[in-house]
Amino acid sequence: MCSQHDDPSSSSSSSSTKHPTTNDGKKDEVEIPDWETIPLPPDHVLSHLTDAHCHPTDLTHPPEVYDRVKLGGLASMATIVEDQDKVNALSEERGWYTARSKGKGKEGHAVGVVACFGYHPWFTHLYTLSSTPPSKEQHYFSLFSPKSQNHQTLLKELLPYLPEPKIFEPLLAKLRKDIQGSLQEGRLTMLGEVGLDGSARMRWPKKAKHLHPDYKDKAQQGEEGEGEEEEWKRLTPFKVPMSHQRAIVESQLDLAVEMGVNVSFHSVACAGPSLETLISMRDKHGIRFTNNINVDIHSAGGWSPDFWKQAERNLLNIYASPSIFITGRSPTASSLISTVSKDRLLVESDSHDVRLSDRLVWAATEWIARCKKWKLEGRDRHPDEDDDGEVKEWDLLDGGDEEGEDEFDEKGRMKKVKEAEEDTWTVRTLERNWRRFMRIDEVV
Ligand SMILES: [Zn+2]
Repeated sequence: MCSQHDDPSSSSSSSSTKHPTTNDGKKDEVEIPDWETIPLPPDHVLSHLTDAHCHPTDLTHPPEVYDRVKLGGLASMATIVEDQDKVNALSEERGWYTARSKGKGKEGHAVGVVACFGYHPWFTHLYTLSSTPPSKEQHYFSLFSPKSQNHQTLLKELLPYLPEPKIFEPLLAKLRKDIQGSLQEGRLTMLGEVGLDGSARMRWPKKAKHLHPDYKDKAQQGEEGEGEEEEWKRLTPFKVPMSHQRAIVESQLDLAVEMGVNVSFHSVACAGPSLETLISMRDKHGIRFTNNINVDIHSAGGWSPDFWKQAERNLLNIYASPSIFITGRSPTASSLISTVSKDRLLVESDSHDVRLSDRLVWAATEWIARCKKWKLEGRDRHPDEDDDGEVKEWDLLDGGDEEGEDEFDEKGRMKKVKEAEEDTWTVRTLERNWRRFMRIDEVV
């Protein structure tokens, strides 16, 4: 349910984005690694990374597929009504438990799934905020308010093929129940995927494809092939107004604050309203928002570097997780990554195909290393390693990679020497950020 599913420019053949990306018009170029050919590091290195945003339940993967994932974790998003139970089932089978003794993954091994429940902005036209269901005509006409005669006629034509609006209140109650249930069982849980989208248009109902001009043309030319059945992904001109999207996302964010769970936030073509919404949450809930929960701006593709700086200044709890598929398309992406503070970066695939997660997350990790000019485990030799070229295992919990702690001189002034001298290691940093983001080490 991500933009990559529908955009042909992100198909596997073209998403390797080999072209260099310029930084803010400057000459320094950061090449995005080719995820399809990138060599993978030893398995244990991948096990330190978590895919902060993906959609594995969009496909039906056999259990062996999950057994083979080398990453330490997957945050599995839900987007529509039908996803919520699928995510719940997957995280029951391979949950990531807050109690260290229970561990994560299947029988305490392999990839651990973070249960993420929520309703995606692309489908908010399906929901009504009123407590009594309006008629289809009332609902869709007042939501899309078509201005031109053509649009009014089209919406009328499509109405019989659109579903009855669903009252949002019970869906919110279900969301509360799902989050509560998952937390009670001690599983890592988030709200996601929720957010705002300034460019999303309602999909053209498949059952109404005979009304689409393309289809009509093809039918006239006698070209309607069988392949068309699968590829029906046309859009209508109808956009959901920001006010409706905001009402839906705000009620979900209120719930996240109430339950103390983090958020994976979709923000496309509306950086301004997204930041406004998050700041309104800060103003409404105070430290219950800023100190108790964290928000990951998933992919953060359209956020300019300057805008990101402003967001970090306003919100102490905001993170960004670059992906090859989405973030990689933005011409300012590399400079955005170099702008995000060291302790606010996560990494993600946004993929629905779990078989690609290791590669996509590793390619994004290497991309981050290039943008930030950080050392990369498996590519560069860590000072703890011997000459045999093997990447030594580490454990953040054993203090194997303490961040440079403040040291004081004899007059009690802080010496920042250690941190300044030490290199930043990408996988360790992303691992530490993920643990801080999820507050994994704070949980007893
Ligand atoms: Zn997504």
